[in-house]
Amino acid sequence: RKNIWKLSTGSKNLDEILGGGLESQSITEFAGMFGSGKTQIAHQACVNLQCPERIIADDAIKEEILNEPKAVYIDTEGTFRPERIIQMAEALGLDGKEVLNNILVARAYNSDMQMLYAENVENLIREGHNIKLIVVDSLTSTFRTEYVGRGKLAERQQKLGRHMATLNKLADLYNCVVIVTNQVAARPDALFGASEQAIGGHIVGHAATFRIFLRKAKGDKRVAKLYDSPHLPDAEAMFRITEKGIHD
Ligand code: ATP
Ligand code: MG
Repeated sequence: RKNIWKLSTGSKNLDEILGGGLESQSITEFAGMFGSGKTQIAHQACVNLQCPERIIADDAIKEEILNEPKAVYIDTEGTFRPERIIQMAEALGLDGKEVLNNILVARAYNSDMQMLYAENVENLIREGHNIKLIVVDSLTSTFRTEYVGRGKLAERQQKLGRHMATLNKLADLYNCVVIVTNQVAARPDALFGASEQAIGGHIVGHAATFRIFLRKAKGDKRVAKLYDSPHLPDAEAMFRITEKGIHD
C-alpha cells in the first residue's frame, strides 16, 4: 500500500481519530441516524478535495492529486445540494462554481444504476478525469427498499458485496478516497443484534476499513465514534455542522 494520502474532513478532531484524515485506498463508512451529518460530511469532502491545504500527501504524490482532482458523487436519495457546495466552498475562499464543476454527480434511482455508476468510474478515469474521491450517499438505501424479506437476503448480500468490491478495487487501483453512508436506526452496539442491520453490517463491515458512527449532540454539535478498525483504537471526536460546513 504505497502512496497513501489523506483528505481532511474539515474537523481536526475527526481527522485525528481517523489517523490524520480520510485515507486513500480504503473505504470509510459513515453510519448514523437521519440528520446526524453523513451527507454534510460527504459534501465537505468534495469541497476539501479542491483545497490543497486539506490534502495530506507526500510532495511527489500531492502533485498528481492536485492535477484537477475530481469527485464522483453517487446520489441515491436526491440529497446532493449544489447550493450547499457553493456555501461550503465560499467559506474556504474557493470559487463555488469551480468547485461544483469538479464534482460529477450521478443520481441513482435503484441499486442497478448505483452499481453501474460505480463500475463506470473506471471509464471516466480512462477518459482522463483525475478522480480522487468517490462518494456513495447512501450505500444501502436502494438495497433496503428493493430486497425485502428473508427470501431476498442472500441476493442482497451478494450484490452489496459485489458493489463494495468494485469500490475497493477503484480505491486501490486509482488511489482514491471512498466514502459510503449508511442510515441506521440504532447505535453500533445495538446494531449487530437486529437481523436487519446484521446483514448489511456484516458485508459493509468486512469491506470498509474505517467505520464511523455519528450521533447528534447539543445544537450543531455531533459526536463521531470510530469502531472496529483493524489498526486504530476505538475513539470519539466532537465536531460541528454550521453554515460554514464541517469543523471543530
Ligand atoms: P439522512 O440519514 O436523513 O440522510 P444525514 O446523516 O445525511 O441524514 P445530513 O443531511 O448530513 O444528515 O445533516 C443534516 C443536518 O445538517 C441538518 O439537520 C442541519 O443540522 C445541518 N445542516 C445542513 N445544512 C446546513 C447549513 N446550510 N447550515 C447549517 N447546518 C446545516
Ligand atoms: Mg443524508
